[in-house]
Amino acid sequence: MAIKTIGVLGAGQMGSGIAQIAASKGYSVILRDIKQEFCDKALEKMKAGFDKRVAAGKASAEDVAATMANISTTADLSVLKDCDMVIEAAVEILDIKKGIFRELGEICRPDAIMCTNTSSMSITEIMSEMKNPERGAGMHFFFPVTAMKLVEIIRGDKTSDATVAAVKEVGTGMGKVPVECKTDTPGFIVNRCLFAFMLEAIHCYEDGVASVEDIDTAIKMGLNHPLGPFEMMDLSGLDTFPHVCDTMEALPVTNWSTPEAVKKLVAEGKYGRKSGKGWYDYN
Ligand code: NAD
Repeated sequence: MAIKTIGVLGAGQMGSGIAQIAASKGYSVILRDIKQEFCDKALEKMKAGFDKRVAAGKASAEDVAATMANISTTADLSVLKDCDMVIEAAVEILDIKKGIFRELGEICRPDAIMCTNTSSMSITEIMSEMKNPERGAGMHFFFPVTAMKLVEIIRGDKTSDATVAAVKEVGTGMGKVPVECKTDTPGFIVNRCLFAFMLEAIHCYEDGVASVEDIDTAIKMGLNHPLGPFEMMDLSGLDTFPHVCDTMEALPVTNWSTPEAVKKLVAEGKYGRKSGKGWYDYN
């Protein structure tokens, strides 16, 4: 099925960005929030952003008009009944998300693809009350959606291969680089790696290894990261940090002994670039 019409649920920071980027790539978008005024505000903000880009010569008035023409808004969920795909970007509250997918399962076509942009919760759990959970998946965008290139596609326990393929295609169609998270793991790929990294930076600070400033400088200068871990935590907001930690607690504590995969590579003489093979093949 060619996906042409996308319903986006939630006209907040993420939903409006997802709607904008999808519309700019030619998808017909129906943006839905619980109140029409929230949708109107999102459109106003979008227009203000576009006006600035046009004034700066970064976008043409024609392209902006074409993008805006591809977006309609509603507060009525039933308007999404003919969508080929729905991307949910409502508040990060499990019961609300579960309720949305339960309702969408009743309203939408049986072949419509259902995605959630949750940043931390289980896809399987969110879609547990949905009809046909095999057509559901995680589609995790990054903020700001218009600038960040990555989208994580996450499999729930029942997600089908066809659904993953369709969501990847839409991710690419939206100009993003899709990566597949093969299991419904806390934090998916990016936050699982990022939080291990940021927590270790905090442990270094708490153990008296170095100051906050020196750890940030070490990571920026030593690893060429644009931001240090503490700068990054400040940017994303420390108030959300404990919520993500609560989710990540389901994972086993990081084990520092050499992983079996590394032992195997070393035993095979695969030392990385110096030997021509490591995780990748350089020959
Ligand atoms: P936000 O608070 O800016 O927007 C949420 C919107 O959802 C609000 O406008 C709210 O009115 C609306 N909403 C609430 N219930 C709804 C319903 N039943 N149907 C439709 N809309 C409803 O939040 P946000 O930052 O855009 O986050 C949205 C989702 O994206 C969350 O799940 C969040 O975890 C995830 N996410 C956020 C970021 C980020 O950096 N902000 C990054 C990736 C993923």
